[in-house]
Amino acid sequence: MASPSLVWLRDDLRLADNPALRAAVDRDEPIIIVFVLDEESPGMRAHGGAARWWLHHSLASLRERVQERGAAMVLRRGAAERVIPRLVAETGAGAVFWNRRYGGAEREIDTALKARLREDSVQVRSFAGSLLFEPWTVRTGSGTHFSVFTPFWQACLALPAPRAPLPEPRELHGPGRTPASDSLDSWGLLPTRPHWAGGLRETWEPGEPAARRRLRAFLTEDLAHYDRTRDEPAAGATSQLSPRLRWGEVSPFTVWHEATDVDGAGRFLSEIGWREFAWHTLYHFPDLATKNLRPEFDRFPWPRLKPTHLRAWQQGRTGIPLVDAGMRELWHTGYMHNRVRMVTASFLIKNLLIDWRHGEQWFWDTLVDADEAANAFNWQWVAGSGADAAPYFRIFNPELQAKKFDADGHYVREWAADAPAEPIVDLGESRKAALAAYDVVKRGR
Ligand code: FAD
Repeated sequence: MASPSLVWLRDDLRLADNPALRAAVDRDEPIIIVFVLDEESPGMRAHGGAARWWLHHSLASLRERVQERGAAMVLRRGAAERVIPRLVAETGAGAVFWNRRYGGAEREIDTALKARLREDSVQVRSFAGSLLFEPWTVRTGSGTHFSVFTPFWQACLALPAPRAPLPEPRELHGPGRTPASDSLDSWGLLPTRPHWAGGLRETWEPGEPAARRRLRAFLTEDLAHYDRTRDEPAAGATSQLSPRLRWGEVSPFTVWHEATDVDGAGRFLSEIGWREFAWHTLYHFPDLATKNLRPEFDRFPWPRLKPTHLRAWQQGRTGIPLVDAGMRELWHTGYMHNRVRMVTASFLIKNLLIDWRHGEQWFWDTLVDADEAANAFNWQWVAGSGADAAPYFRIFNPELQAKKFDADGHYVREWAADAPAEPIVDLGESRKAALAAYDVVKRGR
């Protein structure tokens, strides 16, 4: 009797360089690939709207490719701690393989499941597929974790180099009888009323083949001038790999190995390093999306929320052209250039004096690359409350930023030609108010 191998995919929606899938192929039993939409387990954060859109299309693409290769991809919904053992029982699976996750709730689920399945004599193995360096392997001289990026990245680079990517299996053998699966449409991941995803559809093609093409194009066309133009939002010079890395359509090992061979890739690879740093930070501080990493920031005297200001920011109606352009790019495409993410975040926190958590939540809902670690990490970085954070007194001036990085106004014209001309706050006055508020944090008053 065959005892199939279950490959439980989560943030690794790919066939190439997928160590869990490779282990299943090597085990030489029928393979069942499963994805569980788990919005029930305690602590699991529900995906935002743009992320759900991406997930739908990425799953559709992967499912087709799995079927073409001869295996089954099963979709189930519910708490993983219930769904996975049930599927094991239904199929008589003898092994369950997955690539590791690093968020707090996810680790608890995976640890409990591992113990439970092993009690039932099911083989369970987990693999490193989503990060180049496992968080527990990167340590300071005194054995703690890093809170500053440069020494963190140096320590990573001093470790054995990331392994070579694994090839994509050409054939996958499924079981004689495919277990029942939810229909993807029944999950309702796509927006219906209103159908706001038109801009996302125009901008992106989710799925592993498109991710591979994007990586290739970036390496051959853009990487050479990345260092010089990466800060210019109109230049289109960055990789746009973030949603692909978020959903694991391409693995960081593949990115690493293909980019290292290109001259001048150091700067780009250090951005991949920031991704690692964000995830390592989340591993050590699972509450990164809700709690200040630096507790002295709990004293920050946030004024009472002005909903009209928050809405103006969300809708790109602040009267500050670069901010409005960024927020409109985000709403239309599910993406915003990194420089503009920093400027819009700084404006929300330091000119509107709105708690960074409101901004984090909006980005979470609207970004196709909304990432549990990178989003919270970067919001705290801008606020000054996080790891290796911008000093509190560094308040981006959005007008100077526009002059410097969008000198000929291309970006602002593309996204915010009709934005309001009257700013909702005075940049100079609001800057002073922010500095006074930050003073409270600094002095402990
Ligand atoms: P590239 O410049 O080509 O960089 C390559 C890859 O490195 C990116 O795809 C990404 O995986 C990683 N990376 C680059 N910069 C960072 C960074 N600062 N922190 C962590 N990883 C980085 N990135 C996300 O992936 N998801 C998020 O939810 C997210 N939220 C952010 C919120 C704020 C307030 C800010 C300031 C930044 C945020 N970032 C986030 C980081 C960064 O803006 C994006 O990763 C980047 O703009 C994606 O474009 P790219 O793929 O073309 O980047």
